[in-house]
Amino acid sequence: MKMYDVSAPIFKGMAVYKDKEEKQPEINTKTNGHVTESRLSLDVHTGTHVDAPLHMVNDGATIETINQEDLVGTVKVIDVTSVKGAITKADIESEDIQAGDFVLFKSQNSFEEEFNFEFVFVGEDAARHLAECSIRGVGVDGLGIERSQPDHPTHRSLFEKDIIIMEGLRLKDVDAGQYFMVAAPLKLQGTDASPARVLLFEGLKEA
Ligand SMILES: [Zn+2]
Repeated sequence: MKMYDVSAPIFKGMAVYKDKEEKQPEINTKTNGHVTESRLSLDVHTGTHVDAPLHMVNDGATIETINQEDLVGTVKVIDVTSVKGAITKADIESEDIQAGDFVLFKSQNSFEEEFNFEFVFVGEDAARHLAECSIRGVGVDGLGIERSQPDHPTHRSLFEKDIIIMEGLRLKDVDAGQYFMVAAPLKLQGTDASPARVLLFEGLKEA
């Protein structure tokens, strides 16, 4: 059984959304010569993370309302590495996407270490298509699932159907196909997102 850790490493200087300095993690380490302890200050959208509806919807649901069981199970990795800019409905409608599926899009973003202002994202019509398919969740390898779309229609169409959004995956080493995913966000309460460790297993079947 092969395991892929598709989470982004967290460190000061890592890629953060729009290169904003205030989004960098701060790690302050103190030691008295015997005991070392660090304090971490982190944007909840740092690196690989799960978004909650509150991120884009006023009074939306917070991260602890996402069922952990929905973050464990079979996922489909879909190759969209030929796409530039927006992933459209036309790019994905020939893919086998069924109700209840969790799909992960592998794009050129996975091959870039720096933040790219032109990152590949899920366009509005592709998001509507995914919502119509009644998928369970969607994961992307950009730090946002959309950009440059006024009123954030991609986030909204997915959140309206309670579709889980995961961002910041690192899928460079993962081929298209089916995997067993274990995604474990920190058990934060009341927040609009949470950083997550996400593991994909090859050849592990659902119990
Ligand atoms: Zn986010």
